[in-house]
Amino acid sequence: LEHELDNLRDKPAVTRDGVVVKLLGNIEFPAEADMVLEKGGEGIGLYRTEFLYLYSGSEPTEEDHYEAYAQTVRNFGEKPVVIRTMDLGADKLPHDSPYPADTNPVLGLRSIRYCLQNLTLFKTQLRAILRASVLGNIRVMFPLITNLQELRQAKMILRDVMEDLDEYEVPYNPSIPIGIMVETPSAALTASLLASEVDFFSIGTNDLIQYTLAVDRSNERVATLSTAADPAVLRLLRSVIHDANKGKIDLSICGEVASDPEFVMLLLGMGVRTLSMASPMIPEIKQIVRSVTIEECNYLARKVATMDSPRQIKNFLRDSATKIL
Ligand code: PEP
Ligand code: MG
Repeated sequence: LEHELDNLRDKPAVTRDGVVVKLLGNIEFPAEADMVLEKGGEGIGLYRTEFLYLYSGSEPTEEDHYEAYAQTVRNFGEKPVVIRTMDLGADKLPHDSPYPADTNPVLGLRSIRYCLQNLTLFKTQLRAILRASVLGNIRVMFPLITNLQELRQAKMILRDVMEDLDEYEVPYNPSIPIGIMVETPSAALTASLLASEVDFFSIGTNDLIQYTLAVDRSNERVATLSTAADPAVLRLLRSVIHDANKGKIDLSICGEVASDPEFVMLLLGMGVRTLSMASPMIPEIKQIVRSVTIEECNYLARKVATMDSPRQIKNFLRDSATKIL
């Protein structure tokens, strides 16, 4: 089976009725980038850059960032590489953080909020991303956006950094695509507003589930409540997909659900055409895409929309997956 999946690498991720799906990789380290290509991924949909802040003894320099991004894009040519800016909070703080731990880290000063209050740290990363943007098809993505003002502030800082680079005649891509993670209920509910000010959305279902259902994603005791098969989560997903299509911006899903074999048909049926996942999962997901029709997926998604319990939805998705796998 392994061998069979390896043979899929150079085959397109296209459904039996000819709909093209894009499968991308999630990475945390530059050394993982080439594995995305080896597994048949068509780009990096989520580069989590937190390792830069966590595994060295000091705050990363602009050169530390730049080297990591340059190494990552090296073999990607025109394939997209989405670099997500720092996404840490009091549960995992960067080195030398000036802040005491939040008592409720998931709701505290984290991620984009932290960056907007630490402009030196934020600008250092943005400068490196912009400098690397001439080396390939680099896109920048802001995590944990909860409202339009935060997005505007982040974009304004990006423009400030561009002006600095202009002053020193440092080359960068002035039209670098800008996107956000849609991973809070507030972002999902205001997606139509946000869509008019970004080039792409990537839905982070891991956090979207956590914040929508009020289940700590790291707490084993509530793990069974944590599912994308919840009608509340599915309603938000449908609405974000609709708003992204209406706003004519790119949409992908980069949470764990994107590589869950039981959810692939549902996501396709809901209109998703780009999935980003840990690269070892790409061949298996590609095989599923290649064995279904969009018509079947649409039918399945319509049935799920009539169901009111996570258990019913999960059982239905499992049965449907067993039939095609
Ligand atoms: C998510 O929240 O779904 C996501 C992809 O980001 P992370 O898991 O890094 O929070
Ligand atoms: Mg997240």
